[in-house]
Amino acid sequence: MPVYEYKCNKCGKTFSLFLTYSEYDAAVVSCPGCGSDGVQRIIRPVRVTKGEKARLRDVTEEAAGNNSSQMLGKVMRTIQENSGRELPPDTNEALTRLERGESPAEIDKDYQ
Ligand SMILES: [Zn+2]
Repeated sequence: MPVYEYKCNKCGKTFSLFLTYSEYDAAVVSCPGCGSDGVQRIIRPVRVTKGEKARLRDVTEEAAGNNSSQMLGKVMRTIQENSGRELPPDTNEALTRLERGESPAEIDKDYQ
């Protein structure tokens, strides 16, 4: 699940979102700060050290073999920690629920 970074054109806030590829196609992204949907995606490489890269690969492989919500949550948390950025509260809450083992489908329902 890739991380997308956005910058609000109205208030200048930058924020990160976790979206699946299909979600990214359909998503209307709005600023968590001011609610404006005038946001632009920031494309830049995420700075990851060699050690972090290895750790990320490990948890990704573990999740792929495991296919559980907790593992998905763990992967997403690792990506977020590597990015060094705060998550918007909604995203952080969804991630916390994933880590608790709630299914992505259940969580999605609450964020429609
Ligand atoms: Zn804004």
